[in-house]
Amino acid sequence: MTSKPIKIAATVVVALAAGAGIYTFTRPAATATPGAPASGSPAAAPQSTVDTAAVAAQFRDLLGNFRKIIVLLADEQSLPEGARDEARKVGQALFHENQERIAKLDAALDQLTAPTNPGRFEALDGLLRYIESDPGLYDADRLAFRELLQSMLADVAKDSSLPAIKLHKRISEDLDALGEIERNYEKEIRQIFGNLGQRAIELKRERWDDYVAQLKKLYSREQILKENGIVVPYAVPPAGSVPEAKPVPKKDEAEIFGLGLPKKTIVLTFDDGPHRRYTEEISAILKQYGVPAVFFNVGRNLGSLDAEGHAKLNAGAEVSRKLMKEGYAVGNHSFSHAQLSKQTGDKLKGEILGTDTLLKAISPERAALFRFPYGARNSEGMAALADAHLKSVMWNIDSLDWADPVPSSITNRVLASVDKAGRGIVLFHDIHERTVKALPAVLDKLIAEGYQFAGWDGTSFQVAKSSAPAPEKVPVTTGYANSWAVVIGIDDYAKWPKLQYAVRDAQGIRETLIEKFAFAPERVVTLKNGEATRNNILAAFHDKLAHGGVQKNDRIFVFFAGHGATRKLSSGRDLGYIVPVDSDPAQFATDAIPMTEIQNIAESLTAKHAFFVMDACYSGLGLTRGAGSSSFLRDNAKRIGRQMLTAGGGDQLVADGGPNGHSVFTWTLLQGLAGKGDLNGDGLITATELAAYVAPAVSSVSNQTPAFGSLPGSEGGDFVFELPGETEFLSPNTTQLSTEAIALNSKLDAKPAAASVTVKDLQGGEQKIVTPGAVPSSTRQLAQRANDRGLQLYKEKQYAAAEAQFTEALKLRPDFALAANNLGFVFYKQEKYREAARWFENTVKMDPSRAIAYLNLGDAYAKAGDAAKAKAAYKTYLELAPTAATAPAVRQKMEKL
Ligand SMILES: [Zn+2]
Repeated sequence: MTSKPIKIAATVVVALAAGAGIYTFTRPAATATPGAPASGSPAAAPQSTVDTAAVAAQFRDLLGNFRKIIVLLADEQSLPEGARDEARKVGQALFHENQERIAKLDAALDQLTAPTNPGRFEALDGLLRYIESDPGLYDADRLAFRELLQSMLADVAKDSSLPAIKLHKRISEDLDALGEIERNYEKEIRQIFGNLGQRAIELKRERWDDYVAQLKKLYSREQILKENGIVVPYAVPPAGSVPEAKPVPKKDEAEIFGLGLPKKTIVLTFDDGPHRRYTEEISAILKQYGVPAVFFNVGRNLGSLDAEGHAKLNAGAEVSRKLMKEGYAVGNHSFSHAQLSKQTGDKLKGEILGTDTLLKAISPERAALFRFPYGARNSEGMAALADAHLKSVMWNIDSLDWADPVPSSITNRVLASVDKAGRGIVLFHDIHERTVKALPAVLDKLIAEGYQFAGWDGTSFQVAKSSAPAPEKVPVTTGYANSWAVVIGIDDYAKWPKLQYAVRDAQGIRETLIEKFAFAPERVVTLKNGEATRNNILAAFHDKLAHGGVQKNDRIFVFFAGHGATRKLSSGRDLGYIVPVDSDPAQFATDAIPMTEIQNIAESLTAKHAFFVMDACYSGLGLTRGAGSSSFLRDNAKRIGRQMLTAGGGDQLVADGGPNGHSVFTWTLLQGLAGKGDLNGDGLITATELAAYVAPAVSSVSNQTPAFGSLPGSEGGDFVFELPGETEFLSPNTTQLSTEAIALNSKLDAKPAAASVTVKDLQGGEQKIVTPGAVPSSTRQLAQRANDRGLQLYKEKQYAAAEAQFTEALKLRPDFALAANNLGFVFYKQEKYREAARWFENTVKMDPSRAIAYLNLGDAYAKAGDAAKAKAAYKTYLELAPTAATAPAVRQKMEKL
């Protein structure tokens, strides 16, 4: 049996007719928007200050979190430990967000239902119609609204008017229907209990599984985690990576997890209370079974502290006092149930000590135990506990009673987990009706199976915890002593047709060499237009390079953008020429530079590796075949390399224009050097890889067929560019590519990467280039590369792909502030401001002095409508970067908030 979204009340009846009871929601079908006025009724102006639309939005958010929790924790037992912990942590945070939302909604509903509000029936009708018959709701979804319906019921009960009485009946029936839904899910579980002897067998819950399957179409666990600032790091480094050094365990951090308890020994713990109703129900059940337990109370449920720090206890404190009197241990669960791993200083201490003061005021017998909300703690929190002589108690068995709306399912989970662990501390919460319902069955079974229950007696087992960061790996180097370049670009030919792109191409290559690959500017000889005469070009090679200090461990990069020409020799061979600015077409055989001359220059250079890139057209080069293919990488350092990449395309004088005033060939070359040429992802771009990227890409979008190969005299060495790690923190100042550039890049990258590509060789034949395999890299390097790819994708406005890369970087290296900021900015760019803010918060946590991240954080909060937090972030930004160019604009933004 499968359950489908319930669209109309009639379907509800049909869907559940197979169950024991028939129930129906009280309203007929209507495509209800929560809070929308009932169709046909006059739109009376409500007198209430309550914004019904806002309440309706909160209903939807409540459901959203309810569903996300279910998706987060579906099959959570099959998750690796790290992912499971994060899923639980985020799930609990969403749950507590919902608890606060429900508290606020309670207050709003209280106002909304006040007899002084003439619009109250209409408003409630809208909300109820949403719960009863919204076409987007599945039947299990409605369990999210149980507490609200109970509040509504209590509210309308105060009103004795006839419409109020009718409404009371309607809400009662709705609650009955929710009970019916719950019982239907329970029934599936009870069948499981019927076979308790075979608990290890995987039992199907078709109705529930179907519901979860529907939700998984709407949400994914990974996405929910990410939107809440969590990327789960890889449990094991990916294949091919170098293992990081093992972190050193910290011996002084001791906590109790329950793993050290004797066999078949269980400790029951109940968090988040005391609750006005359920805490006492739970203690009554425990008493019945004669079982001890520890209750971890939240301070604000017990009272408050006055200005002098004195405890002012409330009714909750009485519940707590009673627990202690009955012999239960009552410990501290923080004051406001805050995520204490994110707190520091007085705020953190206040969370711990405030509740300690309240508990001591209730009874000096309070247990000196502390449980971190969500289990989230930092070293400062642990130190604060030590100072306060409190011991941290964690758990190893999670009932997930806060996440799971079905009591029998909770019971089943606890029993299965206890079976598996054999001992331990079980986490429950004494603020849910379903926990009360689940507990007796748990105790029945555990007692029947001979389990013992331990109370707090001061005995505990210490578990080492570790969190030392891994040391940074030494980066792989290419081993060049110095880097040289000759960069030539000619547009303004006197006697040849003028070109449009060559000078700009040369300029772009020069900038890339200097800015990206750290070539010293004085070693990049640049000849533009009139400077690029035959004499000057030859002098650049002979004087500036050969006699200018090039050493044998150096590399030389040569780039020429201009005319090329081909002449048929008497032998029948084609000989290529590069055409200097002062050449005459009528006599280029004497005033142009033949490729054989370039070949001679290449042979005469002392440098280890030389790479000639010629953005010019020739139909033949007139070169003799060079040495064979390259093998990598250790040997490469010893081998002389003389390589050439030419744009090809013999008969074309001018190639099609690329973006930003570049030729298609040079644009593609620049994209390759920007990182796309790193085909095997090892952080190095070899000439071979660059050719394997550039040649097929260029020929796929133009009529050119680039050629590549080793020049005579080469020993097969391969020129190497080492990609530097990008350091740019994405911000509104980051420039993205033009539409034209993005369009061309998407064409260039249309072909999927292949292990080998076929490229023309320098003799006009074809050759297969096999890209070299990756050398081992540390996870830090892999993380950096993922970040860099993300950056490139961001600039191409490929946001989903960029998000995936930044996520990958964070999986590899969870403390990578750069990737965290960049992930945040991708969210920001997609107008997901809350999610963005979480990642900018993460960034400043990792790198608290990173000014730009505060600016981003401020922008995200401003867009999310949180003026106070935006101001605080902007303020920190201005403190860190008071003279930044953006500072005046930020001050203006602050004033407008
Ligand atoms: Zn809690």
